[in-house]
Amino acid sequence: MLSKRILEIPASGIRKFFDLISRMPDVISLGVGEPDFPTPWHIRENALYSIEKGFTTYTSNAGLLSLREKISQMVYSKYNLSYDPKNEVLITVGVSEGLDLAVRAILDLDDEVLIPEPSYVSYKPCVLLAGGKPVVIPTKFSNKFKIKPDDIKERLSSRTKAIILCYPNNPTGMTYTKDELSSIADVCKENDIMVISDEIYGLLSYEIEHIPFSTFLKEKTIWLSGFSKGYAMTGWRLGYALGPEEIISAMCKIHQYIILCAPIMSQYAGLSALNSNSFIEIKDEFLRRRNLIVSGLNSIGMPCLMPDGAFYAFPSIEKTGLSSYDFAEKLLLSEKVAVVPGNVFGDCGRGFIRCSYATSVEKIEKAIERMASFLKKI
Ligand code: PLP
Repeated sequence: MLSKRILEIPASGIRKFFDLISRMPDVISLGVGEPDFPTPWHIRENALYSIEKGFTTYTSNAGLLSLREKISQMVYSKYNLSYDPKNEVLITVGVSEGLDLAVRAILDLDDEVLIPEPSYVSYKPCVLLAGGKPVVIPTKFSNKFKIKPDDIKERLSSRTKAIILCYPNNPTGMTYTKDELSSIADVCKENDIMVISDEIYGLLSYEIEHIPFSTFLKEKTIWLSGFSKGYAMTGWRLGYALGPEEIISAMCKIHQYIILCAPIMSQYAGLSALNSNSFIEIKDEFLRRRNLIVSGLNSIGMPCLMPDGAFYAFPSIEKTGLSSYDFAEKLLLSEKVAVVPGNVFGDCGRGFIRCSYATSVEKIEKAIERMASFLKKI
């Protein structure tokens, strides 16, 4: 009954693991990839007012012009990049939809897409669903999980169409400096590679200033971002894509047939979010938790790089001799701490686990204590 394409795509490794967790009480979860607090009140309140005023209809396919204008003003004032709100900005149902539209808009059958790993779990399936071929670029702890221009050059073929970048990164937390981005952009330009740049964690970059990839290669970049992480708005399902008119219009063509438009209430909520600086408090809170979890993990003998952004730590568990899945499963069953096995983010994630610090300081402290006692037992 099912298409071969669907049958070839494995179910998400994260889901399988969370099904196990959902059956266990009193678990401290370092598993989830979303802020542990609700959307700031003023954003919720304005969305409620919009409903009260009767704004309950469809919007234009591309999204409310006022929201597109606001996004365009924000990226201009923050990053000095100019996007025409009328035809270079598309409001999407989260970055998830933006990613799907981006690959579908640019890929022909068997076109290759470079994917640095460990990576967010949706990239490979989205490329496969669009008929493309993912080509993995593995990264290592010793290189801070970053790719270099030569990594791209070594994997080029006549079918290479695009690369998907994600920084600050899920699951490693790493980000790129200006020089690193510029050298990656040079290779992409020389070899006519499009860049799908997932910058959903752009507002959560700590010491290194976030620099959009469009700064270097605007004409070839599809810039994806959204409200889920920086504004604690995962449930509103709101994101946006910025890019050259030709690509945004192709993405909008798919979007208008399958989605029509993002929910209007969410779009009003997005407008209030951009009128505020709520992300600053959210970022400060995550920074505090990052420092706590990373020093905790290193102190109990789980080597962990200092993440530059997002809200994930990605420590090595190699010394334990356990596979990532066995480590995560045993830790859950013996100490009731949930983490995500690193291999779900790609083969080079073996030997690591992802610990989200989008949870309270008290829970992080308790989780570290429990992990320390687990390490003593195994
Ligand atoms: N991109 C990355 C790197 C993510 O980590 C996530 C969610 O965890 C998404 C995209 C999906 O975001 P959205 O809620 O905007 O669909």
